[in-house]
Amino acid sequence: MEEQCLFCKIVKGDIPAEKIYEDDLLIAFRDIEPQAPFHFLLVPRQHIRSTLDLTASNDALLGRIFQVANKIARDFGFAEDGFRVVNNCNEGGGQCVWHIHFHLLGGRQMNWPPG
Ligand code: AMP
Ligand code: ZN
Repeated sequence: MEEQCLFCKIVKGDIPAEKIYEDDLLIAFRDIEPQAPFHFLLVPRQHIRSTLDLTASNDALLGRIFQVANKIARDFGFAEDGFRVVNNCNEGGGQCVWHIHFHLLGGRQMNWPPG
């Protein structure tokens, strides 16, 4: 838990979020500024600053992220149409919140290049 971290506060329940899933390793909630009809954030309970701070001890977490992304995509009915899982790392990658998270976007055609 980092005192000033927005996502630590959401994990703890100090700041409200529209939570749609939680387990022992992570929570998922709706992005406050959705970029697609379905836009969820998958956020580990543990404070990890960015992708660059992951270690082998986080391997189970990373496996879980994709299992849960699949489950949410199926539960909300956009799995077969297709979806995108995105991690932004550091300023150049577009990261704004310094607690690692994975965007799950679906419900529309995704474009490439992503911009
Ligand atoms: P990133 O740019 O990858 O760091 O993504 C941060 C995401 O967090 C953005 O898509 C924001 O819209 C989202 N966000 C910021 N504050 C909140 C909040 N209080 N509740 C839900 N999503 C948020
Ligand atoms: Zn945090």
